[in-house]
Amino acid sequence: MITEEQAKQNIRELIEYIGDNPDREGLKATPDRILRMFKEMFRGYDPSQKPVITTFPNGQDGIIYDNMVIDNGPFYSVCEHHCRTFFGEYWFAYIPNRKGRILGLSKIGRVIDYCSSKLQVQERLVQEVVEVLTEALGEENPPRGMALMMKGRHMCKESRGARKEGYMISTYLTGVFKSDLRVRNEFMSYIKEWRP
Ligand SMILES: [Zn+2]
Repeated sequence: MITEEQAKQNIRELIEYIGDNPDREGLKATPDRILRMFKEMFRGYDPSQKPVITTFPNGQDGIIYDNMVIDNGPFYSVCEHHCRTFFGEYWFAYIPNRKGRILGLSKIGRVIDYCSSKLQVQERLVQEVVEVLTEALGEENPPRGMALMMKGRHMCKESRGARKEGYMISTYLTGVFKSDLRVRNEFMSYIKEWRP
């Protein structure tokens, strides 16, 4: 296990390696700041930070809901190939099981944040989020399907290397979103028309 002191020393050495002086005034506290920032950016490695996902029995509020529910919001992650930011917008949808459970909507963003907070690739990120949310709803009477689409800008492509606009879309579909084209098209058409 590497100590905090060793990690700080490593960052000092990296600063030296790129040709700057880690002892100059503006950089003195930088290794310390980077480590504190890493704790937040990479909290996805700490299982104790995994959000508790509240679910409710379908029908609890007097209605049984079995249509599409969609959530949208931002995400920020770090590409594992270059350690550069990728960020953008996500659209999550699911169709609850009439006899199953419903997700607390605010928890979806928290799961996205948690799974984003480690070295990632966008293809794995969509899959991990859907797996965590599927698990939260339980195996008995699972939802009829889930869909997650992420549209991300990759700074490793935009600010270096190719220096081209780095949009990437990744999707992960389960259940009826995968097997029924009409359901998938409904999801896609909501995204197209989305004006938050
Ligand atoms: Zn990259």
